[in-house]
Amino acid sequence: MNETASTPTVCCKLSLAMADDAVLRATQTAFNQAASYCARVAWDEEITNKNTLHQIVYGPTRVTYGLGAQLACCARDKAAEAVRAVRAAPERRDRNTDAVITKTCPTFRDDGSVRYDANSYKLKSLDRVSLNTRSGRVTGQLVLGDFQRAHLYDMSWKIGGAELFRRANVWYLGITQTKADPAPAEPTGWLGVDLGIVNLATDSDGETHTGTDVEQTRQWYMRRRTALQRVRTKSAKRRLKRLAGRQRRFQKHTNHRISKRLVERAKRTARGIALEALKGIRERVRVRGTAQRARHSNWAFAHLRACIVYKAQRVGVRVVVVDPRSTSQRCSRCGHTERANRRTQAVFCCVVCGHAAPADYNAAINIERAAVKQPMVSNPTQSRSG
Ligand SMILES: [Zn+2]
Repeated sequence: MNETASTPTVCCKLSLAMADDAVLRATQTAFNQAASYCARVAWDEEITNKNTLHQIVYGPTRVTYGLGAQLACCARDKAAEAVRAVRAAPERRDRNTDAVITKTCPTFRDDGSVRYDANSYKLKSLDRVSLNTRSGRVTGQLVLGDFQRAHLYDMSWKIGGAELFRRANVWYLGITQTKADPAPAEPTGWLGVDLGIVNLATDSDGETHTGTDVEQTRQWYMRRRTALQRVRTKSAKRRLKRLAGRQRRFQKHTNHRISKRLVERAKRTARGIALEALKGIRERVRVRGTAQRARHSNWAFAHLRACIVYKAQRVGVRVVVVDPRSTSQRCSRCGHTERANRRTQAVFCCVVCGHAAPADYNAAINIERAAVKQPMVSNPTQSRSG
C-alpha cells in the first residue's frame, strides 16, 4: 500500500515587541551569513552528506556567527539542501550565445529566511510562539485568520518545522504541518481530466474550467513587460519583478480553485482522477506557441497537476496517469485515430464517423477510458507546490 503524507504550510503574520524585532533581525543576518559559509564549504569541498558537512562547519558556525546549537544545524541544513538543488538542476544555457551557464555556489542574502526545525521554536497556547535567536528566546504573537486558526487548532495535524521571513518590515512565520493521507478509496469509476491552455482543465463529465482570466492577465502582463523592458531604469526593473510575481500568484490561485473543484467532484461521485502523463502535455504546448509561452505554460501545467495530485491524496481520491499517445487524435465514439480528426486546435471532428465535439472534451473522455483499461502508474509521485 502506498502511503503518502500532506505537508501544507500555514503562513502567519508575527507581531513582536520593538526590542525583539531587533534581536530577530540580528539573528536573521547571522543565520544567513552562516548558511552562506556552510554552502561555500559544501561547494568547495564537494560535500553532499549533511553529517560530513556538520563535522567541518559546526564549530566555526557557532563561534563566528554566534548561533546556538539548533540554529547552527538549521543553517547547515538550509545550505546543504540549496547546494544539492543547484547540483541537481538541469544545465542552463545563455539565451543569446547558447553557451552553458556555469553553476555557482548558492549564497543567501542577509534578509533571507530563517529556518526553524521542530526543536528550535515552540507554539505556546496556539497564538504565541517562542523562537530561538542569537540571544536567547523571543516570544511573538501570531496573528491568525480563520484559515490559520482552523489549521493550527486541528490536532490531527502534526506541527513540523517553520520558516521565518520578513516582507516589507513585517515578520511572517510559515509553519509546516504534516498528516498521513487517508488510504485512497477503491474508485467506482474515473473522471478523465484534459489539461490545456485556454481551457485549463476539461473533465470527462463535460465541465470546462477556463483559464480565460488567466490568459487575459497573462497577455496584459506580456504587453506591460515588453513596454517596461524598453525602459532600462532601475525602477522599471523593480516593476517587472513585481509584475512577474503578481502574474504567478494569480495563476496559482486559479490552479488551486480548479484543482479543488475537480477533486471535490471526484470525491463526491466516488471516482478516481485520470490524468495524462506529462510528456503529452509538453509536446502539445510546444506546437501551440512561442518559447516564452511554452515556458510559462510548462510551469503552470506542472503546478496545476501537482495541485490536483496532492489535493486528491489528502482526501483519499486515487489518481492515475495514462499514456498520452493519441488521446487528442482518437475519436471517443468510434475509436478511429488520425491526425486529420483534429480539425482545429479547438474542434474535434472524426473523419470516419463524423462525430464532432470540443477537442478537449473528446480528449478527456479518452483519458477516462484509458484509465478504465490500463493505468500506467497507480500513484504518481507527489511533487511539492507552493
Ligand atoms: Zn469516429
